[in-house]
This record gives sequence, structure tokens and C-alpha cells, in this order.
Amino acid sequence: MGRDQSLQAPPAQQPTAQALRPPASGLLQRLTTAVPESLYHQQDRPPEQTRLALQWLGTAGFRLLCQGHHLWFDPHLSRHSLSQLALGRIAPDPLRIRADVDRADAIAVGHSHFDHALDAPAIAKLHGSRVYGASDTLNYCRGAGLEESQLFEIQGDGRVYAEGPFQLTGYRSEHSPFLAGKVPFPGRIAKPLVAPAPISAWRVGQVLTLHAQCCGGSVHHVGSAALVEAELRGVQADVVLACTIGRHATPQFARRLVECLRPKVLIPCHWDQFWRPIDAPVKQIPGNDLQGFLNEVAAVPGAPEVRVLPMRGWTTIAA
Ligand SMILES: [Zn+2]
Repeated sequence: MGRDQSLQAPPAQQPTAQALRPPASGLLQRLTTAVPESLYHQQDRPPEQTRLALQWLGTAGFRLLCQGHHLWFDPHLSRHSLSQLALGRIAPDPLRIRADVDRADAIAVGHSHFDHALDAPAIAKLHGSRVYGASDTLNYCRGAGLEESQLFEIQGDGRVYAEGPFQLTGYRSEHSPFLAGKVPFPGRIAKPLVAPAPISAWRVGQVLTLHAQCCGGSVHHVGSAALVEAELRGVQADVVLACTIGRHATPQFARRLVECLRPKVLIPCHWDQFWRPIDAPVKQIPGNDLQGFLNEVAAVPGAPEVRVLPMRGWTTIAA
């Protein structure tokens, strides 16, 4: 489908991110945790038969909706507190999952850090969903007792899965080395992992970017702010879901991302404090500098429209 036909034009009266830029204040802007309400794209939940819509649920978690089919990327609803993360053993929170996941035909996971993979098996058990991911994520799902028939490995070798109306694939990628030049919790999950466990048990595993194509357009999920252009040769996406935290460790991340995938719409994610409950007021991770990211995107020739979604916020890509 032609890109111009598959995407709705933004409402003419909607201010652009660039227009909302506060007075330049360097360090203050970079450290702020506030997000002005005026920045948010506001929309009600679309009808089930929508050709393509997206919902953001914090961290790098999204729901893709196409004609009644619900595909989730990196859902992370349990959101443990900093003290639980630092000192405790964590497990999915079934009450929080039930509250937000009313339907899940499938879940795809980009890498197996806890803030991306933790809730996938619990959702899959609740809804009988299929789970797609690298072997690391699937080993965690095995530890949680999922059936082999629910598990589908993405190796980044070009294999495309038909998941309802979606064509789903993954590309080998990397994780941002944001921790003093290193990737946190490196290594693989080589055998079944049983929760509760300390967060260090969720090793990063094989990192993937996820790509889903349907009748309403294509969506590419970049769950960590790094990029391997060589793996993405020839790939274009109508919508890019872009992790922003950790991007300062990846040179020119925003420019390279836009030039590589040439999206029409870009939705930033993984900028919120994912250790705060989903119902608490949303705050940025200090140093994330969402406004700075929006400025970096706006500076790229042919920059896409940017939509910043509020927590649980929806946006329609093709009605
Ligand atoms: Zn990670």
C-alpha cells in the first residue's frame, strides 16, 4: 500500500512538537522529568475494525490493532518500584496485567531485559497468546510453563510469520551501551528462567527490532536506542516506535534512525520512569531529554510527524 494512502494526515490545528519547544535552557531541559500536557497526542480508543492503530502502555510497550487483531510489543505493565528492582526478586503482577490487557492474540519481544520481557508469559497464559522472540525470551516463557506450541523463535534471518492480519519479522540489532559504555546484564538466557528472580536474571539476549506489516501500513519497533543499518537494508516503515533513553551512547541516533527507516510517523517510547506505577503521573527518566530528541528528529531533512502518546494513549494510523 502506498504510504500516502495508508496514513492519515494530522489535524491541521495540532501544534507541532517544534512549536511547543520551551525557551532553550540547556541543562535544565535535559534534566527535566516533566512532560507538558500540550505535547501529548490525544485520541479515544479506535473501533476494533480500524486498519491500523497503536496504543502506548509505558516503557517500550505497545499494542498494535488491525481489524480486531491485537499484537503486543514488549508489554511491561508490572512496573516494580526502584527498591523492588534493586533488592527484590520480581515476577509479573497478574492484577495489573488483567487491568490493562483485555485482548492479546500475540506478543513479540525485542530483547529479554525485564522491562521488555517480564510480562509476556503471564499475558500469554491469560489469553492463550502466541509469543515471538529470540531464544532468550522463549526460554523465559518455558520457565513460566508456556506450551511449545505457543512459542515462535525470531532469529533475525528474514523469516516472516503470518500473525493474523500482520506479517511479523525481526532484524538483528544491538542494545545501547548506556551504562558507562556497557550494556547492562549482558549475556543470554540459555535455559528456562523461573520468576520470581532478581532483575539480573533477565539477560539482554539477542536484541531484535520488530517489524509488522498489515493492510494499514508498517510499524517498526526499536526497543533500545541503537541501530545496525546493515541489517535494515531495504527496510522502510510507515511508523517507527523509537526508544529514546540511552540514545546519547549511540552517535547521531535520531538522524540515523530517520534516514534508515524513512518513517512518516515517529512515536518516542521508553522515556518514562518505568519504576512508577502505571496509574501514577508520568515522569521522564532524568537525562532522557524528550524535547531534545524531538528537536533532533525535527532537524533531519524530511523529518516525520512526531506523536507523543500519553500513558495508555491511542493513535490511529489508518482508519
Ligand atoms: Zn534493555
